[in-house]
Amino acid sequence: MPRITLIAAIAAALLLTQGCRSRHARPVGAGATVFVSILPQKYFVDRISGGLIQCLVMVPPGADPHSYEPHPAQMTLLSDAKAYFAVGVEFESAWLPRFASLAHNMRIIHTDRFCPKIPSVDKDDAKTGRAGAGTGLDPHIWLSPALVKLQVPVIAAAIESVDSAHADVYRANCDAFLRAIDSLDRELRNILPCDSGARRKAFLVFHPSWGYFAREYCLRQVAIEVEGKEPGPQTMKSILDSAKIYKIHTVFVQPEFSRTSATVIAHEFGAGVVNADPLAYDWPATLRAIARKIAEQ
Ligand code: ZN
Repeated sequence: MPRITLIAAIAAALLLTQGCRSRHARPVGAGATVFVSILPQKYFVDRISGGLIQCLVMVPPGADPHSYEPHPAQMTLLSDAKAYFAVGVEFESAWLPRFASLAHNMRIIHTDRFCPKIPSVDKDDAKTGRAGAGTGLDPHIWLSPALVKLQVPVIAAAIESVDSAHADVYRANCDAFLRAIDSLDRELRNILPCDSGARRKAFLVFHPSWGYFAREYCLRQVAIEVEGKEPGPQTMKSILDSAKIYKIHTVFVQPEFSRTSATVIAHEFGAGVVNADPLAYDWPATLRAIARKIAEQ
């Protein structure tokens, strides 16, 4: 019996591999296409769809989702899309109405629907009302595992309605992804334990992307950017003071924003400049990497 079980298992594994291969070999566009605004959202969609759905990203790597202007070729691709997953980044408030008028069969799903938001520390966002679709709230909700857990079922339900034939697959993948997020969260709490007695560990960033992450893992985010711009001498001085008070040894920068003032500040107090890209595809790797770097300093 064990021998037969083994043979059956090998056969099943071969079939599964072939199944995967045949799916990958399908011509592009054979499955449904959906759009997301930023790369980490594509990671979420891919985890749930298992590659059965083609997911295109509106804001390409290195572009700024606060001010992005879609390319005409992207607008054409939208007309074939079945769904657009909006996450609440700023360019969406200007462009979603245009997307909707262009792509009549495309459903727009707001994945931030159930996410409670905190005020944006980016004063420019608050003043111009660009953040969180005009609310002055922090739009960076994809950098918190707890808030991603609130978005995953919304994404899964929409994918299911786009391709109901594979509903079982999507439900199973959704459950597995939610469990993976729980274990990632446990891992992050081990790296960054919340010690109520101790002073919160602080970290310095150029653009304040990590507000939700900081709140969840008992950290303090200090931002260099002021009103969306490089800080003046006065602000630079106060940032340097807090960097000393909080014993900050690392300045995190992201590719979309200037490194100039970050480098100047880092040089002033002998800190290192480290890349932390909140818009990278590999979402768990992004969170693990910044957690380790903050814990190390
Ligand atoms: Zn931002």
